[in-house]
Amino acid sequence: MRVGVLALQGAFIEHEKMLRRLGVDAIEVRLPEELEGLDGLIIPGGESTTIGKVGQRWGLLEPVRAFARSGRPIWGTCAGMILMAKEVADGVPGQPLLGLMDVAVRRNAFGRQVESFEADLEVPALGEPPFHAVFIRAPVVTSIGEGVEVLARLEGGAIVAVRQGNLLATAFHPELTDDERFHRYFLNL
Ligand code: GLN
Repeated sequence: MRVGVLALQGAFIEHEKMLRRLGVDAIEVRLPEELEGLDGLIIPGGESTTIGKVGQRWGLLEPVRAFARSGRPIWGTCAGMILMAKEVADGVPGQPLLGLMDVAVRRNAFGRQVESFEADLEVPALGEPPFHAVFIRAPVVTSIGEGVEVLARLEGGAIVAVRQGNLLATAFHPELTDDERFHRYFLNL
């Protein structure tokens, strides 16, 4: 299996390490032609405004949308979740998005960097034990469209992991822990 990791900015190396640990070829994607022959794509956490702008400048946004339309799986973590959403609150005006998933998200929903936190999430799709999730200036999903499945919520009810067909998005960073279950879940898509 060959899985691409969008490597414009942010936490892409950590995803690559996790993929390699699972025996998957991890390919850094910076140019549209590097999407060829991939079985899936991860859009890492980082800064969604930067990833969006650089992606737009390098002509990657439309090819990534076409990749999704072809039915291949894409997983956005944190900033990646923001980029995949159709609607973003508290974004920077005009910030480029992929707009792939029927969800609305709020950027920096928990405040600033210092308000980052970790939480144990019940994720029925992964089973027991709870998934220890790292939230770094994370977004939250504020509404979902038809066909969007909620995979995890915080204790207060905030939606932090969603799936829509071949598309997966998590507000937190599974690549920063040792728990491989979310990566395995994605590979199964
Ligand atoms: N706050 C960042 C953004 O708006 C996301 C943070 C992250 O990816 N850890 O893009």
